[in-house]
Amino acid sequence: MKIDNILSSLEAKHPGESEYLQAVKEVLVSIEEVYNEHPEFEKHRIIERLVEPDRIFTFKVPWVDDQGQIQVNIGYRVQFNNTIGPYKGGIRFHASVNLSSLKFLGFEQTFKNALTTLPMGGAKGGSDFSPKGKSSAEIMRFCQAFMLELWRNIGPDTDVPAGDIGVGAREIGYLYGMYKKLARENTGTFTGKGLEYGGSLVRPEATGYGALYFVNEILKAKNIDIKGKTIAISGFGNVAWGAALKAVELGGKVVTISGPDGYIYDADGISGEKIDYMLELRNSGEDIVAPYAEKYPNSKFFAGKKPWEQKVDIALPCAIQNELNKQDAELLVSNSVTCVAEVSNMGCTAEAVDYFIEKKILFAPGKAVNAGGVATSGLEMSQNAMHIQWSAEEVDSRLHQIMINIHQQCIEHGKEKDGYINYVKGANIAGFMKVARAMIAQGVI
Ligand code: GLU
Repeated sequence: MKIDNILSSLEAKHPGESEYLQAVKEVLVSIEEVYNEHPEFEKHRIIERLVEPDRIFTFKVPWVDDQGQIQVNIGYRVQFNNTIGPYKGGIRFHASVNLSSLKFLGFEQTFKNALTTLPMGGAKGGSDFSPKGKSSAEIMRFCQAFMLELWRNIGPDTDVPAGDIGVGAREIGYLYGMYKKLARENTGTFTGKGLEYGGSLVRPEATGYGALYFVNEILKAKNIDIKGKTIAISGFGNVAWGAALKAVELGGKVVTISGPDGYIYDADGISGEKIDYMLELRNSGEDIVAPYAEKYPNSKFFAGKKPWEQKVDIALPCAIQNELNKQDAELLVSNSVTCVAEVSNMGCTAEAVDYFIEKKILFAPGKAVNAGGVATSGLEMSQNAMHIQWSAEEVDSRLHQIMINIHQQCIEHGKEKDGYINYVKGANIAGFMKVARAMIAQGVI
């Protein structure tokens, strides 16, 4: 495999799709060695076939706002790869959404879903619609207009969407309601649904819980106890919330959360009702964390800054791609950070990742760390198919086991000669091998 040739041809075909090219490059660099050890991969042109999505739907989403004005957004669904199961992946509503970000997310999702051990292919969708400051009625109308276009292309065994940034329980309710009305079936073509209509217990917490199970495995492998460790979290949405809950339960001390306006440092620790308050902040629709410091005067708000400047043992980016850059990485390392785990998808820039690995920091990539979310979506699909509901204990113990398994796969494929675990390499190789072998088995399709 000639990585440079593949990347330059991709760049020529898809100019300016920087996030997509970044995600592809990371995987290619990681798998180069094993790829070249297996001539059958090259023979079957696995890389050339794997880097392009199977298909992309792009559509116009016209809707009417509360003032009676017509608004127009763009909707997308990138069905990336269904080799190991139905397309599966979230829907993101955020002003930054474009084809590049959804292609990167769909590409990552393919490997992440392979790591979960469950039969799910990779997909991602979304819109440049920003829910910020929108009323519930506007959000409902937008979701309905979005689904009016998408419903024909999804289904319980073809493509199962879920939530992501900007798409939580409320949006999934509206999207699923419209899907059901149009498709006239009730087989659960969506995960993250409400508990009353086919949702799974523990799904809301699953991404954050899974991430902390994974972090705990990383630390345990190095005989480090998470108890008493200080933890910086960015973001304050669903993922950050679940991560904070489990971090505190395991005995860690969460000292930061952040929003687009800046970050909060709370030396007393963010636990109990303060974690509930994160949900309140999120539900206000304002997308700011500053009010936390007014409510809890012992904490401090840092306007326009990122939490990575604080001295902590563990850093967990939980907000959005490329939210932690090389400068942030240098700050964390100079403050003796022990472990950095991406809970957001591709939370760190490529330069930051390289720096952590060079410094032999315990670093793990999003596609392994945050796989608990989609894994629990897979468990929701199983429950829907069987028309039953598992208890929270049942779901949680399966989730926990899946995260231990993913960690094991990373060790198997990522252990270097000096004993350092390169989790980026481990996760990429493990995910890739599974998809590649299944592609060969299924012929040229
Ligand atoms: N959006 C989540 C992710 O990035 C969850 C996807 C799902 O549950 O399908 O993995």
